[in-house]
Amino acid sequence: MGNNILLTEANYKDKYPPLGLMKIATYHRLKGDNVIYKRDFLNKDRNYFSKIYITTRFSFHWKKTEELIKYYQKNYNSEILVGGIHASINPEIYKKTFNLTPVVGSYKGEIDSLIPIIEQDEILNTILPDFRKYGIDVLPPDYSIFDGQELPFNDILRNNYLIRSTKGCTRNCNFCDVNKICEDYIDRLPIQPIINYIKNRHEEKKDILFFDDNTLISSNFHKIIEELIDVGFYRGAKLSRKIRACDFNQGIDLRLLTDEKLQLISSICLKPVRFAFDDINLSSLFKSKIKKVINSGLRNISVYVLYNYNDSPKDFYERLLISVMYNKDYNSRISSFPMKYIPNNQVNRKYIGRYWTKRKLRGVQCILNGCHGIVPVKYDYFVNAFGEDSSTFERIIIMPEKYIIKRKLNTDKIKQWEKDYNRMTPSTREAVMSEISANVIYELPNVQSYDSAGQTFLKHYLNEKY
Ligand code: SF4
Repeated sequence: MGNNILLTEANYKDKYPPLGLMKIATYHRLKGDNVIYKRDFLNKDRNYFSKIYITTRFSFHWKKTEELIKYYQKNYNSEILVGGIHASINPEIYKKTFNLTPVVGSYKGEIDSLIPIIEQDEILNTILPDFRKYGIDVLPPDYSIFDGQELPFNDILRNNYLIRSTKGCTRNCNFCDVNKICEDYIDRLPIQPIINYIKNRHEEKKDILFFDDNTLISSNFHKIIEELIDVGFYRGAKLSRKIRACDFNQGIDLRLLTDEKLQLISSICLKPVRFAFDDINLSSLFKSKIKKVINSGLRNISVYVLYNYNDSPKDFYERLLISVMYNKDYNSRISSFPMKYIPNNQVNRKYIGRYWTKRKLRGVQCILNGCHGIVPVKYDYFVNAFGEDSSTFERIIIMPEKYIIKRKLNTDKIKQWEKDYNRMTPSTREAVMSEISANVIYELPNVQSYDSAGQTFLKHYLNEKY
């Protein structure tokens, strides 16, 4: 009889499955253990589980994660292993709060006892050299731990092979924590055996989702593409008459996209093609590379657009506009996905970047809410939502929330808002802007503090929630 092992994480809504826990599940099942994955607070005998693995993701899940870890610490005698993104980046928070030393990065496991078992498995034996080097990280994920559970990532599980073809990144972008999680870059991990194992144990999947951090750095990139073509993910590939898709979810590094690599990615069924556009100083590079991507026939493009970092609202707008103009001029379909920067050493989402205010961030959110969370792809819709130029955009994001969300209903009020805004002297405007920068206003501030133009303008913000 094996040991009872619990894999768990807080009950947050994240559409991606916990790949690390799925691999740990394979590891324990190969050892003959009884593995369960549950997000509930389980009520069993204190000695029931020999090990409890708790994974963590982002800063804004902290409260739920804290509650979960404390529950298991209090109610079980088990060995508790905490890992995942947030714990790897902030080991000191976990040490201080729970007196636990998190597993930073990948958990290698006690692999020696497993080697004879792996040698006997026809598929796993082919990855033995990688297993000796990297441990659990190269094992196939176990999908069966989620059987019968309603989880936010059920659709992804149903349709996708979850794979890493590389791990880590040798770059060092200031806003990124990948290097804190993966010390070294692994430039090739097996794909075909993992797919075959999943196919044998679970079922064939139509699509493939890569969890790589930066695949283009790999000196084996061409081999990765060859392998993908061999396993049936070539351009135009179908499974049961449905088009297959291959998604490098963290995006492809445009800076490294040479003509040769573009040709390689065009030979697989990449959909969507994801890039990032984080810095306005890279506009020329972004434009020239995206043009080549469009010319290669890849027109379905997703672009992550970081904001609230060192950018200003003006350059955030301009980065969005570049993609929209390309859609207009080249008939492409570039969708922008704004990603609000929050340092992962925080335990909430309150961080405000140097050139932003709480109100401006909220203003962006209100625009996005007004267009169902998506930056419009077409120029006319984009202009309606974000404004025709960056200065209009900067005005929109400081308007009262109800005006931003329901602009058609509030046309007259918005015109009046513009007039009242323009009537203020620069010094009144500055004082009023600082008044509204952080707060919803429920009553007018002290009359003495503002002149009549300031008072009139502030009235727009009274009970401004839509
Ligand atoms: S290239 Fe991407 S993965 Fe690498 S450090 Fe920069 S943001 Fe992170």
